[in-house]
Amino acid sequence: PMPHHAKKRLGQNFLVDANIIGNIIAAIGPRADDRLIEIGPGLGALTRPLLERVETLHVIELDRDVIPRLRRLPRADRLHIHQQDVLRFDFTDFYNQHRQPLRIVGNLPYNISTPILFHLLDSRHCIEDMHFMLQKEVVDRIAAPPGNGVYGRLSVMMQAWFQVTPLFTVPANAFRPAPKVESAILRLQPHQRYSAEIHDPRAFATLVRTAFAQRRKTLKNTLKNLLSTEQIEAAGIDPALRAEMLSVADFVKLAHIHPAVTCKVRVNNP
Ligand code: SAM
Repeated sequence: PMPHHAKKRLGQNFLVDANIIGNIIAAIGPRADDRLIEIGPGLGALTRPLLERVETLHVIELDRDVIPRLRRLPRADRLHIHQQDVLRFDFTDFYNQHRQPLRIVGNLPYNISTPILFHLLDSRHCIEDMHFMLQKEVVDRIAAPPGNGVYGRLSVMMQAWFQVTPLFTVPANAFRPAPKVESAILRLQPHQRYSAEIHDPRAFATLVRTAFAQRRKTLKNTLKNLLSTEQIEAAGIDPALRAEMLSVADFVKLAHIHPAVTCKVRVNNP
């Protein structure tokens, strides 16, 4: 077949290192009856070994040009190809059809990796676990603890709903073409740690986004349209702190008093 020319706009950096591919498959630990979905199979570097291990594999790939190659992989009879944008793939709907928690994997297109993670966050109830290749810098941000310079909205939102486990780094020369950045494999497993306390996930998301929108400012300033200084204090949080000093549990406490704000606004504007 004709050589495939990697498309930069689709974030195409194909894995070519057999050892790394083996390590990723081992980290995923696929079981024959898993409900496995691969995002961005590309030329099949991960798809091929996955097809050896599972009875059924769903893949979501935007690039039409690689589909014929995927169809020619060994055991392609096990392969279900969804030729579409992953950001428009309804994982909740897919789960409702199959009724089995989803295991999602992929060497993600780096240009849209954060939107993909937020999209998956909306379907967290349908997910057993996820294993992704990301820029190492993004993995560092997701896993960062409070007070760290890269701790931010992405860290809080992911850690609030997922157990975050960085697994190993992957050098640029494991890909063709080689990306300009180092990469890493990340495991995400949904947890229920805060779900009983986060009554309104949308309000929680708004609070976190607002708090980090101006990360150099204090909570008293950034949250003034959502919470009064007294309310922040009532949650046991110092209003003079900046968002980056708050743990996930602190944000959960703040979100707890958030519904009260909605009531206050309603009283003022009947
Ligand atoms: N899995 C292959 C590998 O490891 O060699 C390819 C990984 S490459 C980093 C990312 C893949 O995601 C490419 O095949 C690209 O075409 C695909 N892709 C890019 N944007 C996409 C989107 N919005 N929806 C689905 N797939 C997309």
